[in-house]
Amino acid sequence: MQQVAISVVVPVFNEEETLEELYRRLRATLQSLGKDYEIIFVDDGSNDASLKVMKRIRAADTAVRVVKLTRNFGQHPAIVAGLHRARGEAVVLIDADLQNPPEEISRLYEKYLEGYDVVYGIREGRSDASWRLWGSKLVMRLSKWLLGLPVPEDMISGFRIISRKVVNTLNTIHEQQYDTSLMMVYLGFSHAGVQVKHDVRRYGQSKYSTFKLIYLTLDMLVGFSDFPLRAASYTGAAMAVIAIAVGSYMAVRRLLGIIDVPGYASIFVGITFLAGIQLLFLGVIGEYISRIYREMKGRPYYVVDEEF
Ligand code: UDP
Ligand code: MG
Repeated sequence: MQQVAISVVVPVFNEEETLEELYRRLRATLQSLGKDYEIIFVDDGSNDASLKVMKRIRAADTAVRVVKLTRNFGQHPAIVAGLHRARGEAVVLIDADLQNPPEEISRLYEKYLEGYDVVYGIREGRSDASWRLWGSKLVMRLSKWLLGLPVPEDMISGFRIISRKVVNTLNTIHEQQYDTSLMMVYLGFSHAGVQVKHDVRRYGQSKYSTFKLIYLTLDMLVGFSDFPLRAASYTGAAMAVIAIAVGSYMAVRRLLGIIDVPGYASIFVGITFLAGIQLLFLGVIGEYISRIYREMKGRPYYVVDEEF
């Protein structure tokens, strides 16, 4: 397989309005770098005219490749499909919606040439809803804590350049669902951030609903940490200590003959509280079991329909 200097991988899910402009700006930037390049669009089951636009672009430029997935698998599987096919010495990951300005690739690449394996864009004045910014902060905190590794500011932004070494390592991972950004931190390659502009989404809407974001966050926590499982043991231990203390107190009161018969409310609260905690941790165990089940089935992470 013939190598190129830079591959650009773009996951696309219903982005018909931006693709032409994205392509033009990508091409201009990549040409200005003076390196040979390829652009890989991964169509993640779009049901608008995205694929048609990509085909048109592909027909006019041999540096463009299109990978069409059979259905919508998600941004990360789409990126992984692109990584499996990228031939670049360096691989750029960029969103299709133009929130990451393609021109900023030059600055990421400049930093990359200093010898880092991962160079990510830190979104300057991030143009997203404020609840998303808070959500991201919370996710960063959680990941730092769960991974036990420093997760640099805005490392989870999708805009980045990674080296061939990182791509090869990512390509050996067969997990069913994983967050590519956190995985890079976990793998431990050298990394650096560069401030990049972040534009508002001019067309369409974010492909992430609140529900999907919460689901992905939980999935990420379960995927990168066994803390939730251990929390069950810790909580159980704490409850046992409390039970011994309260039980002894009750026993002493009973022996001293000062037991107050009512107590209906406290029994009721105690039972519902315990039931709640037990169900919660059954759920946590269920999350892990469902992942084991998912891994065990070993279904493909994504399925390719056609490649052009
Ligand atoms: N995307 C995708 N599959 C999905 C969801 C998103 O390929 O199921 C792509 C999307 O087309 C875009 C990128 O992932 O290129 C980031 O998505 P989006 O802009 O909606 O995310 P946000 O910027 O709101 O985090
Ligand atoms: Mg976006």
